[in-house]
Amino acid sequence: MMRWMMERMAASDGIDVPIYLGSGHDQDPQDPGEDMAEDLCNNAIEGLKQLLSERSDLGAVAAVKIKQLTADLEAATSVERIKTGFTHFKTEKYEKNPSLFEDLAKEQHPKVISSISICKISILSSLLKSWIKFYMQFMVFACSDSRVCPSHILDFQPGEAFVVRNIANMVPSYDKMRYSGVGAAIEYAVLHLKVDTILVMGHSCCGGIKALMSIPADGTTSSDFIEDWVKICSTAKSKVKEEFKDLDPTDQCTKCEMEAVNVSLGNILTYPFVKAAVMNRTLSLKGGYYNFVKATFDIWCLDHGVSPSVVV
Ligand SMILES: [Zn+2]
Repeated sequence: MMRWMMERMAASDGIDVPIYLGSGHDQDPQDPGEDMAEDLCNNAIEGLKQLLSERSDLGAVAAVKIKQLTADLEAATSVERIKTGFTHFKTEKYEKNPSLFEDLAKEQHPKVISSISICKISILSSLLKSWIKFYMQFMVFACSDSRVCPSHILDFQPGEAFVVRNIANMVPSYDKMRYSGVGAAIEYAVLHLKVDTILVMGHSCCGGIKALMSIPADGTTSSDFIEDWVKICSTAKSKVKEEFKDLDPTDQCTKCEMEAVNVSLGNILTYPFVKAAVMNRTLSLKGGYYNFVKATFDIWCLDHGVSPSVVV
């Protein structure tokens, strides 16, 4: 018997969105109720579609109703996924790290404590016993691609990384008239959070880089935003087309995924406060490349050039 009930949640725009709720917060994740509810709704919609196809006289009114039902089901599914995700976070992280979240509730400037093996820091070995704790904080540029969430890939905990995600993890050069959202994030991270590392993280099979590489030589575009955005790294594309002209398009994209990271690292240096922090050695810039096909992560530094990468 289905013990789930349908409840309506008023959305901010005044439209009722139906969501499925269990009998309480003690939901059994193994309980098939959620799937059953979804199956029943799907079956109902399929039945209505069938009826509509057989009874053309029901006309447009029924079609609209079916469309509404389908949209309601999709909304219910996405709300349920958000609830499930947050419940997991709350029970597995929030409630298991009360002191961390108590600190984070006071300010975002977290300075998360991390630990590294002292054997890697020989100069401090006489001063410290077995472990050293130090503070670090990252700003991370990552692609919006759902497969490359930096908190998952690099296991960042709440408070550890200030993240900007966009198409193809690009950083435009300093320009107060354009891309002010990116500029504001960098300014806040560097001047207020005082992050010590900015990591630009590229990844394999990046659709944004593919879009960049596919822009015709004459520069014409067919999208409202995407191509204009990815042109931020046009110099990476030019370099790859020049230096790797013999590679097939897929391999050229891979080269460009990495080279675009270098272009972004160079662009970050055009922000005066970034340049000053790098010169003062309070900030370092790092490039990263996550290959989710091979499960590898390359890391390299931008010093006065690009240093050799370390592959994890
Ligand atoms: Zn991407």
